[in-house]
This record gives sequence, C-alpha cells and structure tokens, in this order.
Amino acid sequence: MDQVGVREGFEELYGAAPEGVWAAPGRVNLIGEYTDFNEGFVMPLALPHTAVAAVSRRSDGVLRLHSADIDGPVVELRVDELVPRSDTGWAAYPAGVVWALREAGHDVGGADIHLASTVPTGAGLSSSAALEVVTALALDDLYGLGLTRPELALLAQRAENDFVGVPCGVMDQTASACCTEGHALHLDCRDLSIRQVPFDLASQGLELLVVDTRVKHALGDGAYAERRAGCEEGARQLGVSHLRDVAYEELDAALARLSDERVRRYVRHVVSDDHRVDRVIALLDAGDVRAIGPVLTDGHASLRDDLRISCAELDLTVSTANAAGALGARMTGGGFGGSAVVLVESTDVDSVTKAVMEAFAAAGFTAPRVFPAVPSAGARRLS
Ligand code: ADP
Ligand code: MG
Repeated sequence: MDQVGVREGFEELYGAAPEGVWAAPGRVNLIGEYTDFNEGFVMPLALPHTAVAAVSRRSDGVLRLHSADIDGPVVELRVDELVPRSDTGWAAYPAGVVWALREAGHDVGGADIHLASTVPTGAGLSSSAALEVVTALALDDLYGLGLTRPELALLAQRAENDFVGVPCGVMDQTASACCTEGHALHLDCRDLSIRQVPFDLASQGLELLVVDTRVKHALGDGAYAERRAGCEEGARQLGVSHLRDVAYEELDAALARLSDERVRRYVRHVVSDDHRVDRVIALLDAGDVRAIGPVLTDGHASLRDDLRISCAELDLTVSTANAAGALGARMTGGGFGGSAVVLVESTDVDSVTKAVMEAFAAAGFTAPRVFPAVPSAGARRLS
C-alpha cells in the first residue's frame, strides 16, 4: 500500500487526517553476519520496501494501533500501562517503541497509528525493524524529541529486545534509520559509528538480487541464542570482552587455544566475517565492485560450515546462482531460511533467476521470490 492508501486508511479508521506520514525501509545485509552482537562490523543496505505509518498525537494517553496487513481490529493500549512481553502480537513492535521512549525519559503521550508495509515478513529482510523505526521517527518528529538517527535505532532495538522479547543486535534498526540512497552502510557495532559507502551497482552494469526462499526463519527457536552464547564463551576463553577484539592476523593462534570444536567454529566465522567486511570495503573503495563476489561466496561457506545456520534452499540458491554465472552469493540475515543475496552482471539477471527458479522446482521447493536490492533511502517523513 502506498502513502495515499495509508493516509486514507487512517482517516477511515480514526475519523480525521493524520498529522503526518513516515516511512522506514527493510534491509539486506551485504556482508558481516552474526558479527553485530560481537561488537564487530556489518554492511547493510536499505531496500525500496518500506513500512509506512500515518500518525497523530493524542492527549489522553491512549495508544491506538492498526496494521492494514493484519486482519484484525484496532489494538488499544494505554501508554502508562505498557508491560514488556505482554503478548500483544504484532502490536508489540510499535507499542514497544513507545515503551522504550518513555523508559528513556522522553515525554511521549498517546498516538493513533495506522501502518502498512511492503517489507516481506519473516524473510530475513527486517520487517520488524522497519515497523519499529517508522514508529520511532514519527513520534520523535511529532513530540519534538530531537533524537539522532543512531539514538532512534538503539531505542528501537531496546523495544525489540526488552518489550517484544527478541534478542537481536542493533544492525537492523540502524540500517532502517541511517541508510542513504545509493550507499551501503558500514557500521561499527562497538561505537555505532557509521560510514556511507557508495554502492552504485547500476552504473557498473551490476545488480544485487535478493532471493527470498519463502522458508520462514524463526529466530526464537533457540539456535540464535545458542550461537550467541557460543560466541560469548569463545570471547571468555580468549580473554577478550568481545570477539571483535580478536585480530584476523591472530585467528589461527586464537583457534589453537580453544578446545571446544563448536566454539572454535563460531570464533572462526565471526573473526573471518569481520575481516570480509574489511575486504569488501577496501574493494569498493578501490572501485573493484566485481571482486566482492567471491568474498560473498566465502562468507556463505563460513555461515554454512562454521556457524551452521544455512538450509537446503539457501545452499541451493548460492550454488545454482554461482554455477549460472553469478559473481558471488551468500545467505543473509539470521539464517535457517529467509533470503540470499546474489551479485550478478545486469545482462545475466534473467538467466541466473531462471536457473534458481528451475533448481527450486526440480528440488520440489516452493518457488522463491526474486527482486533487485536497489540501495535505497533510510527512514524519512513523507508528508
Ligand atoms: P523479519 O524482521 O525478518 O521480517 P521478524 O520475525 O523479526 O521477521 O518480524 C516479523 C513480525 O513483525 C511479524 O510476525 C509481525 O508481528 C511484525 N510485522 C512485520 N510487518 C508487519 C505489518 N506490516 N503489520 C503488522 N505486523 C508486522
Ligand atoms: Mg526482525
């Protein structure tokens, strides 16, 4: 649904025009996976797909929430009675943002919110962060809070961690809040410093495809927490606060000090993926965009073999795309389903897409959704 549709939906629901309309995008991560909570590096870009929210303030402390994408009534809550993990379903994402803002001492009262999103849910493209960030930006604007984008991202992350109850890192919200058109975002997850890295694929005759395998990932099943705990154990055994502090040049020596085979694999993934972010940055800075392809494919092997978070559909996407002439490919996001990114020559988009569709059909998998990841703008006010 577009901006006009969301505005009209708001008026129909709440009987007046909204004070404004805001948008926040989903994202794909180009490189740097499971590195964010290790205080390492990531490199996401915003998608053209966005969550759009029409919002007005209310003076009575009531929070009314509605999504055009959910078949259900308006959810009505009171801002001074929001309880973390109270199982409010999808409404927990925007309600959690109100809660996090108020917990941080910001004077946020009630609001009417109507939203709609074109970010596929559960596809590893961060529909949840888009929802949180669009809510945070709208309330920041309307209540005149003056928060910076990184501050909004942190509060949105707090909403997801502590209110919804999902232990995600800060990458998704930062990408949605801070990305800019035509760029990938180099984010240092330790100090949250960011750098916009030009990522103009079209002028190079390239495209980055997203292949949504349609396999729903579920981070809540314990695998994410298990990897996270394993990384923390690795850091503890190596005597560093986070795996970010293990230099790539010292990786072999560090691995030799770890007795647990599983922890060793996790450490190898995280330290090598931080290094792959560095390599991608250096290649992009040198204008050698095609050369990042093999780095992406190396990253996939690491996620598959060391972190062990891939699945048959993601592996098939990567192997098929590369065999059909892609420059490189990797799964992206939390794993166990969701999406892959594939770097291709623009002239090869059709043949690579066809090869992937045919391989899925031959394997008896649900047909994937394939679309270009055009590096798009971060969260913004539309009207
Ligand atoms: P991802 O962020 O990878 O898409 P998550 O499981 O983190 O997957 O978030 C998906 C959840 O976010 C959905 O189950 C739903 O609760 C909420 N959500 C996302 N988009 C919408 C929407 N348009 N309307 C209502 N809820 C949504
Ligand atoms: Mg999410």
